[in-house]
Amino acid sequence: MHAALNHLLGIEPLHPSQITAILDLADSYVDFNRNPLKHTDRLAGLTQINMFFENSTRTQASFELAGKRLGADVMNMAMQASSVKKGETLIDTALTLNAMRPDILVVRHPHSGAVDLLAQKVNCAVLNAGDGRHEHPTQALLDALTIRRAKGRLHRLNIAICGDIAHSRVARSNLILLGKMENRVRLVGPATLMPTGVADLGVEVYHDMAEGLKDADVVMMLRLQKERMDGGFIPSEREYYHRYGLDGEKLAHAKSDAIVMHPGPMNRGIEIDGDIADDINRSVIQEQVEMGVAVRMAAMDLLMQNRTAQTQDTLV
Ligand code: ASP
Repeated sequence: MHAALNHLLGIEPLHPSQITAILDLADSYVDFNRNPLKHTDRLAGLTQINMFFENSTRTQASFELAGKRLGADVMNMAMQASSVKKGETLIDTALTLNAMRPDILVVRHPHSGAVDLLAQKVNCAVLNAGDGRHEHPTQALLDALTIRRAKGRLHRLNIAICGDIAHSRVARSNLILLGKMENRVRLVGPATLMPTGVADLGVEVYHDMAEGLKDADVVMMLRLQKERMDGGFIPSEREYYHRYGLDGEKLAHAKSDAIVMHPGPMNRGIEIDGDIADDINRSVIQEQVEMGVAVRMAAMDLLMQNRTAQTQDTLV
């Protein structure tokens, strides 16, 4: 029996049964979120603080909505205007917030490992909303839920993760999750955008889209993360689109019912053709966003259930 989760810091520490438990609960939140009235008091009285040290549109909005739909008191820290700008360290900021007795901290940070470090210093549940190139667990979980609902299963699928793998925490978390659930994962992209040590990851690596997409059930495109590059990774955006941008011609190599995914934000005309992204028969990009809210509700709900169970144990 694996230990109950106190935090959601990454996919790495999760057991497949814990992944399935989050996805099963998330499925019920998808139905719940489709009701006109979508509010429960499950987290009523609890405080959730969102601390985003890096820009975010969908992840922050998604965590905020998730908390509000569960009845928590949600606060978004405006990190740009905070004391971090005055030189306060991450740990001091965390300790200050901890003293205000939140129950849930949702943290995004540009440095890999920063969220793990913070989780060791506070008393509440910490959810990693993306740390550097390390992990983005709720993204991988929402991708898994999207795949499971579209394909009817989450095992023995051919999944091609394409593009800027080296800089992507999304790729890393997905690789780990999809591997744990026994899928065949391939990485497709230029050698310059493959992480170091890719040969040890136990996945197939392709530098050609036609070969890499052959018979794929799922084609997962990644954003070219220019903010994490210091030049020289690609010859030009035009050339990149020509060789690695997903268009109808390249997609034709995948299975005829293959789904197309992208975590957003998208660079249309660089890693993906706008028409493919908008094609409701192939693209599940909007479903990914919908699943995001449900998965975050499920993750926070389960973490709070674990905490209540632990408190009751110590009271007996
Ligand atoms: N939104 C995702 C992330 O925060 C993917 C991306 O930015 O490309 O990692």
